Amino acid sequence: MVYDLIIIGAGPAGITAAVYAARKKMSILVISPDIGGQAAWSGDIENYTGYQFISGPDLAAKFEEHLKKYNIELKEGEMAIDLKKLVDTALVKTNKGEYRAKAVIVASGKRSRELGAPGEKEFKNKGVTYCATCDGPLFSGKDVAIIGGGNSALDAALQMVRIAKKVYIINNAQRLRCDPVMRDKVESNPIVTVLNESRVTAVLGDKFVNAIKVAANGEERTINVQGIFIEIGLIPNSDFAKDLAKNEIGEIKVNSRNETSIPGIFAAGDVTDVPEKQIIIAAGEGSKACLSAFRYLSQQ
Ligand SMILES: Cc1cc2nc3c(=O)[nH]c(=O)nc-3n(C[C@H](O)[C@H](O)[C@H](O)COP(=O)(O)OP(=O)(O)OC[C@H]3O[C@@H](n4cnc5c(N)ncnc54)[C@H](O)[C@@H]3O)c2cc1C
Repeated sequence: MVYDLIIIGAGPAGITAAVYAARKKMSILVISPDIGGQAAWSGDIENYTGYQFISGPDLAAKFEEHLKKYNIELKEGEMAIDLKKLVDTALVKTNKGEYRAKAVIVASGKRSRELGAPGEKEFKNKGVTYCATCDGPLFSGKDVAIIGGGNSALDAALQMVRIAKKVYIINNAQRLRCDPVMRDKVESNPIVTVLNESRVTAVLGDKFVNAIKVAANGEERTINVQGIFIEIGLIPNSDFAKDLAKNEIGEIKVNSRNETSIPGIFAAGDVTDVPEKQIIIAAGEGSKACLSAFRYLSQQ
């Protein structure tokens, strides 16, 4: 079967594109390992219009409910591993199969960057995590370290102050580089210690993490923690889209109509080079990408 449209990814961008496509009565396939994307990782969302406050998992559940209102074919648990433009169609290969469509929207978002410290890989899911929303409750009453100093790190810290006994923030820059509102909340919390100009040099443990080594001012010290949240940035999930033009950090280049360098292949949200990465922006870009794909198909 050749679909009108394949959407790769079911975060805010992909889900919005799918809802728009369903309403245009296009035949669609959505391929994604999960539903909700990074939106589900966020603790408190206070900037999605219409909701003065909603948690990340609750907003992701609303998105999923909206998606499933339509009879959209969904390959949940599948990952795109290759994307090729053929003559009139595009071919998407996944870890489980191959699918063809007349148009494709890449909305595969971003994933967490790894720290690269010794012990990180060994203790992944044994104390080392990349998602405070998903794993935070496992560290109730424990001492934890958040690695990073941007908005994601502070979001994780603000979630963990409600759960953990002690929260260290290990930040390699001179100051926290986040929204001032978040910085004020974190810095005024008595259970938080911020270590600026500091770097994690090793993750230590036995069966589970029990400490980290931190270097600062030419000295190294050991801090006992049972949980480590690595929040040092994100990498675009664009490796499978080998033929598309990308910028120097691997984001897919798009124009204001969400067209990529290949006709019939569109992209939206965090995986692209649009300047800001936010849920409302990804959702808006997803709707634009779908309308552009619809126009492209009408002209074929
Ligand atoms: C901790 C944290 C807190 C945040 N807080 C806020 C906030 O308060 N407000 C706000 O507006 N924004 C916030 N953001 C940013 C926001 O979540 C993102 O900008 C938004 O989710 C991007 O949407 P997206 O659909 O482009 O990508 P994503 O949300 O990354 O979704 C991408 C989807 O594609 C899937 N995928 C990945 N690779 C493949 C593949 N190879 N094949 C198929 N599918 C694939 C993923 O599994 C996922 O389902 C936060 C982000 C983080 C990490």
